[in-house]
Amino acid sequence: MEEKPILVMKFGGTSVGNAETMLQVKDIVKESISTGWKPVVILSAMVGVTNQLLQSAELAKNHRFDLVLQTAASLTSRHYEVVHQLILNQERQFTIKQQIDQLISGFTEYCRAIDIIGEATPRVLDAIGGIGEMLSVRIFAEVLNIHQIQAQAVDATKIIITDGVFQGAHPDFEKTRHKLQQTLIPMLNSGVIPIVTGFIAATEDGITTTLGRGGSDYTAAIIGAGLKAKEVWIWTDVDGVMTADPRVVPNAKTIQSLTFREIGELAYYGAKVVHPKTMQPLIDADIPIKVKNTFNPKHPGTVLITDQSRISNGDIKAVTSIRGQSLITIEGRGMLGVPGVAARAFGAVASTGTSVPLITQASSEQSICFAVPLNSIALVLKELNNAFARELQVKDIDRIWATEEVVIITIVGAGMRNTPGVAGKIFSKLGSQGINVIAIAQGSSEVSISLVIDRQDDEKAVRAIHELIV
Ligand code: ADP
Ligand code: ASP
Ligand code: MG
Repeated sequence: MEEKPILVMKFGGTSVGNAETMLQVKDIVKESISTGWKPVVILSAMVGVTNQLLQSAELAKNHRFDLVLQTAASLTSRHYEVVHQLILNQERQFTIKQQIDQLISGFTEYCRAIDIIGEATPRVLDAIGGIGEMLSVRIFAEVLNIHQIQAQAVDATKIIITDGVFQGAHPDFEKTRHKLQQTLIPMLNSGVIPIVTGFIAATEDGITTTLGRGGSDYTAAIIGAGLKAKEVWIWTDVDGVMTADPRVVPNAKTIQSLTFREIGELAYYGAKVVHPKTMQPLIDADIPIKVKNTFNPKHPGTVLITDQSRISNGDIKAVTSIRGQSLITIEGRGMLGVPGVAARAFGAVASTGTSVPLITQASSEQSICFAVPLNSIALVLKELNNAFARELQVKDIDRIWATEEVVIITIVGAGMRNTPGVAGKIFSKLGSQGINVIAIAQGSSEVSISLVIDRQDDEKAVRAIHELIV
């Protein structure tokens, strides 16, 4: 008999947000089996749960343990409610409620420790933040079981091995592949569907890490690559990747297909629909990704593909924006021709652990300008002032300063580089709306252009540029 192909399907927070939506997910899983796939399911926490868990850690740090207990109670009752609605068998209900109690009491204990110490380390934040996924997989696996679909909850701490960079850990693909083959393949071979936690992983010593916020998409890709899945499908709450965030642009349309590069830029610059790292493990393996809507499963959604040649027609495909940024400028006539200024500047920024999403340099070399997240400007300015203390003193550098909040708008389309006049169209559109462009950068992969504008022009600019697409 021919081997059935493996399909990794990830369902986001809204897809598992309540009993009703969980049943929709169950139907999708069932459908995948009847159409000849061997599914592996990755789940997020129920929508809002990760935020609640992490906010509780913050509350505990501020010694508001009373509020932590309130959250613990509300998390328990929210998960119980789903269990009561979907798992009617008393015995099974009892077992699953015990598991919920155990996980939630682990959460309160961690928070208690934070309350006592007055500090929440990234390590404990990962231990707390991942509990939502551990809850949702246990409930959903049981839901499948009572619908006669054999399934088993799996904590990804047992199968994805990462380094110890908490809150944004990097997988060791080789070790992970080995674990995946050892654990999931035998399950699949015996007809059991693995229901795996998104977002979390562990170091080799078994310490829980997370892959960063929104990281369940990345989990699906890591597992898809490790199992050599035929396809990876990301199920979310919109009809695929759209020309803009439909919450900002109500008439945004689904994009039928995008290259990994295009979606990479879009995701990196704020389109939350797919985590920016998702494509990375799948590029070499040439495994396509589909983005589909749990609440409209018949819609084809978006196909993400590695092959560039198939789609580089047209010009602008999508527009996105990322808030909460500041532009830092280092300026001074004495910088002219002095080698190494940029290297030292970025070295100083890197030493603070801040990543720089956008860089522009005036050709006169009299200034360097780059974006950093707003919440790291104090630290970054301090390091830059230290690094250039001498130049500031002798006035080779006049000043180093940061703007108020700005927004980065990114326009994506692989065909843009071959289409003359795209940038011109964008600027005249913005100009006609009275929107001032503070800085410009072209993405190094040539599939995007980014602009920096004032915070207050954000949505207006996205809508204006979107008019150039549809
Ligand atoms: P999930 O919980 O399923 O992972 P997310 O909230 O992380 O869902 O991502 C889906 C959301 O991404 C959508 O509801 C939408 O508001 C937002 N989004 C932002 N930009 C885009 C875009 N270009 N296309 C589709 N959705 C987008
Ligand atoms: N639950 C995690 C988060 O909210 C991971 C995810 O949903 O992808 O960030
Ligand atoms: Mg998401």
